[in-house]
Amino acid sequence: MKLFDPILQFQQEIQAIRRDIHAHPELCFEEFRTADVVAQKLEEWGIPVIRGMAGTGVVGVIQRGSSSRALGLRADMDALPMQEINQFSHTSKHPGKMHACGHDGHTAMLLGAARYLQQTGDFDGTVYVIFQPAEEGGGGARRMIEDGLFTKCPMDAVFGMHNWPGIAAGQFAVKTGGMMASSNEFEVTVLGKGAHAAQPQKGIDPVMIAVQIAQSWQTIVSRNVNPLEPAVLSLTQIHSGSATNVIPDEAKLIGTVRTFSTDVLDLIERRMETIARSTAEAFDAQIEFKFQRNYPPLINHVNETEFAIQVMRDLVGSDHVDTQVEATMGAEDFAYMLQAKPGCYVFLGNGTGDHRSAGHGLGPCNLHNPSYDFNDDLLPIGASYWVALAQAFLKAK
Ligand SMILES: [Zn+2]
Ligand SMILES: [Zn+2]
Repeated sequence: MKLFDPILQFQQEIQAIRRDIHAHPELCFEEFRTADVVAQKLEEWGIPVIRGMAGTGVVGVIQRGSSSRALGLRADMDALPMQEINQFSHTSKHPGKMHACGHDGHTAMLLGAARYLQQTGDFDGTVYVIFQPAEEGGGGARRMIEDGLFTKCPMDAVFGMHNWPGIAAGQFAVKTGGMMASSNEFEVTVLGKGAHAAQPQKGIDPVMIAVQIAQSWQTIVSRNVNPLEPAVLSLTQIHSGSATNVIPDEAKLIGTVRTFSTDVLDLIERRMETIARSTAEAFDAQIEFKFQRNYPPLINHVNETEFAIQVMRDLVGSDHVDTQVEATMGAEDFAYMLQAKPGCYVFLGNGTGDHRSAGHGLGPCNLHNPSYDFNDDLLPIGASYWVALAQAFLKAK
């Protein structure tokens, strides 16, 4: 591996930052301390900082030479509302909050790269290091774009990275095209008519109607969607009633839909509404249909992905770059950035959990698991990838 020597030299400092952020997790749009740590470090290293985009977002601007070429490197800063069960020294100090997705590591890797790029230069143009809030459901990437990320910081391409447990530590995995799914949620209310449970003829039973709708919805993916197109419809909550002898007024059906294409999403939403309304009508009930489209699918651009793959191969060797990674039905708000700018998002293997020091919670080291911890061995690899990518993209002539 051709890691950058100076990055290895200040690995201890970057690791200390990572563990400090891990110990002080903050949720969506509340990354005040984390943003301060990031901005202070960038300023300490002489990097101009833009603050306030999407509230807690931070952008460092590293400029060399005279070229107008520019690229963005993006990390996310937020943690999750869950209790950490690890007991090592850098475990979360905030009950009910935890860095279980490795955004502490993403932030630290990008800081390492920023420091190296500012120190050594060796490129012609501008590198924007983007630290965004609220990836976990808050759409911080979209908010930064709405707050002018790409107008205040004009760039030719943008790149993202996420650690991925289960893939060998330090191995890159990527693909062109759709890599992560769109994420959408629905809440459908069946409005019936309450009655005594012993006198069903006096009411309209929303529970029975909700069950019929739930069953029929499961024909959409199996009977309406093209079998070659990935799609998931998961009904995750049914709420109704409060007593054994009361037919309730209403029933709620709540869940998520994941797809890779807008056509399939349009089809699923339309069929869900038709089935819900027609079934309700058949039983003299009404429907309130709410369907919210959240993160779009994450689509890697062909040219930028091929470019990034070459950088990865030069860095860690072709054997350690999987260019055909299996897409996942999980979602990621970096998708918004890839709708606005060409670019590439890549997984960096986090290993199987062997890296965790004594005191971890003995659970699997999976994302969003209370035993998860970011693998510090990745810090120089991820930071070196960012540096190599920036230097290759903004090659000094
Ligand atoms: Zn996550
Ligand atoms: Zn994440």
